[in-house]
Amino acid sequence: MSVSAGFDLGGTQLKYGLVDQDGSVLYKARIPTPSTVIDLIDRLPAIWADLKGRSPEPIGAAGLGLPGIYDVRLGRIRQSPHCAGLDEFDLAPALAGILDVPFVIDNDANLAALGEWTHGAGRGTSSLIVMTIGTGIGAGIILEGRIWGGVRGFAGEIGHVSIRPDGLECPCGNRGCLETEVSARAILRRYRDFSAAAEDLTPEDVHRRAEAGDKGARRAFLEAGTFLGLGLSLLINVLNPEMILIGGGIMTAGDLLLGPAVAEAGRRSYRASFEACTIRRAALGNDAGLIGAAALAAGRMDPES
Ligand SMILES: [Zn+2]
Repeated sequence: MSVSAGFDLGGTQLKYGLVDQDGSVLYKARIPTPSTVIDLIDRLPAIWADLKGRSPEPIGAAGLGLPGIYDVRLGRIRQSPHCAGLDEFDLAPALAGILDVPFVIDNDANLAALGEWTHGAGRGTSSLIVMTIGTGIGAGIILEGRIWGGVRGFAGEIGHVSIRPDGLECPCGNRGCLETEVSARAILRRYRDFSAAAEDLTPEDVHRRAEAGDKGARRAFLEAGTFLGLGLSLLINVLNPEMILIGGGIMTAGDLLLGPAVAEAGRRSYRASFEACTIRRAALGNDAGLIGAAALAAGRMDPES
């Protein structure tokens, strides 16, 4: 057996755990995302000691997934819309002082894609896109059997493609991004617009109301799903992928979002490309990033794997 550690830093939680070579999660835990990067670095030694204490054998390597734009060449976060304190922070040198094993850092969406590809619903595909929809939208792209990071690791930012030229401002600085129309926040915003609901709601509340027949809630998912379909058609026509998986917190709503998205993608894509592409829910849920981080780490640890 070989054991790797995975870390998945999200907008609200830092998830971490131990994963074996088969993708089984041996242990996992989570804390609220530290409010500053200094706080994050301060917390890591205790987390690392916890992981080492719980591992059935010495941890071989570690992988860390981060939101936003991580420069693989510089080892530095360039822009992180949901964790602004991380911008331009030299993370790799800071981690080197804490993690006493080889470690790798990559964008969280790339690692979720790697997780689904190695141990989830995308196994066996040669071209796979995994879109994760939660607070934001990220995508990881696997082409011909490897992550396509682009020249500096920034590829896959489908969430920040403009689909409404005059749309709302996005945390990335652009306007009318796919993310501003489809994220959890966008669904809540639509529901408030349609229903004049004043109370604090979660996306799960809107989902429950939609299932109970609330017209405003159904319309919020229908519109967000239709915009998601535009994003899917873009990926389908440009890359002709074998499979697109959609994951992230919002997918608890399942077909409420995916149904209109697939229908719209079918209307907007070349028919042959659309028919060649399987679109379905991701399989690993919240663990995809963790499993992908550990899988990337394991690959670096043992070139045979
Ligand atoms: Zn954006």
